Amino acid sequence: MEPIKGLHHVTALAGDPQANVDFYVVVLGLNLVKRTVNFDDPGTYHLYYGDDVGRPGTILTFFPWPGAPRGRRGTGQATATAFAVPQGSLDWWTERLAGQAVDFDSVEERFGERVLPFYDPDGLKLELVEQEGVAGWSYWQEGTIPAAHAIRGFHGVTLTVAGFERTAELLTTMGFQAGGKEGNRYRHVSGHRERGAAIDLVCAPEIQPGVVAVGTVHHIAFRSVSEEDQLGWREKIAKTGLDVTPVVDRQYFHSIYFRDPGGVLFEIATDPPGFTLDEKPGQLGSALRLPPWLEPRRRRIEETLPPIRVPQPTRT
Ligand code: ZN
Repeated sequence: MEPIKGLHHVTALAGDPQANVDFYVVVLGLNLVKRTVNFDDPGTYHLYYGDDVGRPGTILTFFPWPGAPRGRRGTGQATATAFAVPQGSLDWWTERLAGQAVDFDSVEERFGERVLPFYDPDGLKLELVEQEGVAGWSYWQEGTIPAAHAIRGFHGVTLTVAGFERTAELLTTMGFQAGGKEGNRYRHVSGHRERGAAIDLVCAPEIQPGVVAVGTVHHIAFRSVSEEDQLGWREKIAKTGLDVTPVVDRQYFHSIYFRDPGGVLFEIATDPPGFTLDEKPGQLGSALRLPPWLEPRRRRIEETLPPIRVPQPTRT
């Protein structure tokens, strides 16, 4: 098996789908790379945002539940999702977020990097991290954000757990190494230093358990290079005593799921086949795509889903 390079995607719960599209496409300049449904609940959208083609490590996805209650950040959850931006970008972003009436906190420093925490319209906690060496990484060139500042995919995530040791051990099994400690924050990094390579564990037993609903992360997915590699990981994770699902076909990748000992839902997803499976690169996200097994129900599904409009991005 190849060591896990980093995050594949992060999936969160949103409220209104139109507000979600407007925020991620217009305010953050991400590309809506796929408009489909939750395969386990086809009355709900599944919206995927990423770079030009939705490369692994750039993909933030949402299940929008209009009118559903908000969740609560707490232990057993991914409590912050961090995007990588080129160095020297955060002053520009601070002005950008203020101008778009986005809720944000002041810039802080973490492991020698500048971090700007902010919140999406549903209160989902996000961060922009100035990361060395990312300027050359791909991004969505048609988006609203100039090249010097555009989001280059994930920097990593923060997992808040009541006790960090067993989660740390699992991450070590998955190929992440201890990468420093600041207060109660323990960084774990993939040796590849690719996108989404930083997994921070915040050990906070005094915090209440999180409630997964609108404005919180549902699960985080790590990358596997192939289906064969994924089966190897499945066996290795099962040997640690965790229950792992069989391989599930997610159309654009194949997935296995297991819950980390700290309570966070983990997934390992394959890099292939990717989002250009059923749409050309320039047309990603332009129409509702359904997997073959849901096509017979298309009319019914389309009647159920609220309409959404993808705004034409204008460069700021
Ligand atoms: Zn997933």
